[in-house]
Amino acid sequence: MTGGQRACSSLHLASTPRGSDHRSSSAEAYLTPVENERSNLVVLVGHTATTVLFTADESTGLRSAYAVRFAPTPANATAGPPSQEYIVSADHEVILSAGAIQSPALLQRSGVGTKHLLDVLGIDIVVPLEGVGRNLQDQAATPLAAGSTVNDTGGTRVLDAIAFPDVDALFTFGALDGGANVSETISSDIPGWAASQAAAGGGVSAEALETIMRVQAHNILHDKAAVLEMFFYEPAPDGLGMNVWGLLPFSRGDLSVTSTNPFTPPAIRGAYLAADIDLAVAVAGARAVRRLLHTPPLSEIVTQELVPGTAAVPDAGDGGSDADWAAWVRSAYISNDHPVGTAAMMRRELGGVVDARLRVYGTQNVRVVDAAMLPLQISAYLSATVYGVAEKAADLILEDMRAGGR
Ligand SMILES: Cc1cc2nc3c(=O)[nH]c(=O)nc-3n(C[C@H](O)[C@H](O)[C@H](O)COP(=O)(O)OP(=O)(O)OC[C@H]3O[C@@H](n4cnc5c(N)ncnc54)[C@H](O)[C@@H]3O)c2cc1C
Repeated sequence: MTGGQRACSSLHLASTPRGSDHRSSSAEAYLTPVENERSNLVVLVGHTATTVLFTADESTGLRSAYAVRFAPTPANATAGPPSQEYIVSADHEVILSAGAIQSPALLQRSGVGTKHLLDVLGIDIVVPLEGVGRNLQDQAATPLAAGSTVNDTGGTRVLDAIAFPDVDALFTFGALDGGANVSETISSDIPGWAASQAAAGGGVSAEALETIMRVQAHNILHDKAAVLEMFFYEPAPDGLGMNVWGLLPFSRGDLSVTSTNPFTPPAIRGAYLAADIDLAVAVAGARAVRRLLHTPPLSEIVTQELVPGTAAVPDAGDGGSDADWAAWVRSAYISNDHPVGTAAMMRRELGGVVDARLRVYGTQNVRVVDAAMLPLQISAYLSATVYGVAEKAADLILEDMRAGGR
């Protein structure tokens, strides 16, 4: 895994804290060491940024953020608009790090987004930017389970074992046809997926999404990035779990604010499994799990498949039909809570929202530094990459400040 092999498997030792052990966090690693020493740092919890305020810069034609409005976060998630708001002014720039759901929502409420959406809500347009909130890529996860003869109440063994198969390994092992033509299918079906996903609102145009998806396909077919995570774990003393989730979906969702009330959550269209290849990956993964449960040495400790079980997905000796697996996957999948891409670093005509220095197009001094800027889903968990994005952003900000003589 650390040797550059992208499709691989790994064993994770349990990292549950014992005794005086504890897990670190981004706050502990980055904030705690400086929070009592820096006189120019204020951390305000329990408050929500509601709008970024802009002025026009006549000399550049760009919009410049001069302040951010914020309000106490209400305890009630269905609260009405804030009764009291505050304004903090921005001397240099505004950095949004509210995550892949809330950063684009904050941009939209501030007048940066699709003209049609802003018009409908009566929000003054600051920068018409079609990509804000589009290109949403989450990962759909499907949990399977089996009974086991092992009673591991002590929890002393390896907790997790994870396989990251590439497209060839996955379909060879998990597809009824052994993966015949999967590479050709991915290459030839991209225009159709791009058209359907763009028409539903997941991209600014079919042409733009096709360009992006061809990069993604190169990653999958040429560079052999893992397309699926198969996560084996022990959910109960006498049970085994196997979660499968597609890592690099071709489905594209979108999100939009539905109100000028900053406490009204945005409407999210996840578009999970909307592109048929994403469903095919999930089905191949689920069938592969069933095969593994019947294969030694795992089969030696498995008593029976519990979820989905052969009542839901009958097995006539072939591991189950595609249609039965697809119906079950559609009923059982959940979000993996890994949204990315909604304020992506890409060319503006592709639906990009930020440039290569993470600045929002059309603005002079607003950056997005969080998972929203990733243009494509990654073949892994997200946190480490988001830390990398933040470290890189810190360098860019320092460089720009120094270049400006500050
Ligand atoms: C249940 C769960 C389990 C996960 N497990 C893992 C895992 O095991 N490994 C892994 O690598 N990744 C995991 N992830 C994914 C990972 O946590 C996220 O990808 C990552 O935190 C994204 O970072 P971010 O900075 O983009 O957004 P976030 O971490 O969501 O940070 C955004 C912050 O902004 C705040 N905020 C939002 N709106 C506003 C506003 N208007 N004003 C002020 N503040 C605002 C939020 O409260 C939040 O603190 C998990 C996610 C979830 C939800």
